[in-house]
Amino acid sequence: MGKGLNGLLTKAWGGSDYRITVTASEYITDKFLRIGFTAGGLLADHPVHPTQWVRCWIPVDDGDKLHQRGYTLVDQDPDKDHFFIDFAIHDGPAARWAQQASVGDELEVTVLGSDFQLPETKPSEYLIFGDTASLPAVNSLLDAIGDTPARIWLEWQYETDQKIPVHTNSHHELTWVQRIEDGKLLREAAHELTCPTDAFAWIACDGPTTRSVVKTFKQVHGLPKSAMKYQAYWK
Ligand SMILES: Cc1cc2nc3c(=O)[nH]c(=O)nc-3n(C[C@H](O)[C@H](O)[C@H](O)COP(=O)(O)OP(=O)(O)OC[C@H]3O[C@@H](n4cnc5c(N)ncnc54)[C@H](O)[C@@H]3O)c2cc1C
Repeated sequence: MGKGLNGLLTKAWGGSDYRITVTASEYITDKFLRIGFTAGGLLADHPVHPTQWVRCWIPVDDGDKLHQRGYTLVDQDPDKDHFFIDFAIHDGPAARWAQQASVGDELEVTVLGSDFQLPETKPSEYLIFGDTASLPAVNSLLDAIGDTPARIWLEWQYETDQKIPVHTNSHHELTWVQRIEDGKLLREAAHELTCPTDAFAWIACDGPTTRSVVKTFKQVHGLPKSAMKYQAYWK
């Protein structure tokens, strides 16, 4: 199966390709599946950093093309050439691939565009917006910021979502909100929060919610673009 135009583009932009192999599969909840992979040398070439992600090439059921989907690396172990990926389950090809994957199955991945680093000047607080798709990235961010205060808003779709471990400590305040009306409660939370002038906002939800929350940080709270990192994680 081919990668089509997207494959040519990621190559042209300098993406590096790897083949990863399933080592294990474990349901964290009924809608959140952790799969272990040998890294195919990826971690030797690309140092671990918070929110590190790869472009997975997923076979789509009714075509002969591989489609690209972003996924976050979890518990990376460069010495063992191993990492995990947590799949939030919904009705889509990548989620279906994960549910059917067994030990020994292979997946092609490309590394391109994953380069987030914590801000050089420590913010007084992190303000984090996400959902179960970005929860693996949120957890890596929380691990990296340590004792810096953070408020985190996460959107849940299934009752069991709130059982997924979140790496908070006593400096962090977590609020789960239900996904209703395409992210309404996250958008409201962004409006209502108090935002210190030296905060850093990290936002990764579905596309429209991400755009709306970012706009609120800019226009309502006056946060400069340099104090934000945002990316739509799904459409
Ligand atoms: C940098 C980056 C890192 C990411 N890391 C992760 C990760 O670690 N774990 C993870 O689970 N996802 C992660 N995502 C999100 C993931 O790439 C998308 O959810 C992707 O669309 C899933 O592809 P799919 O083929 O299963 O579904 P698609 O073919 O893209 O979509 C099929 C249908 O499912 C819906 N859908 C897609 N994603 C979701 C969702 N999360 N919740 C509800 N409905 C959805 C779509 O609206 C559509 O109706 C990441 C995305 C990016 C950009």
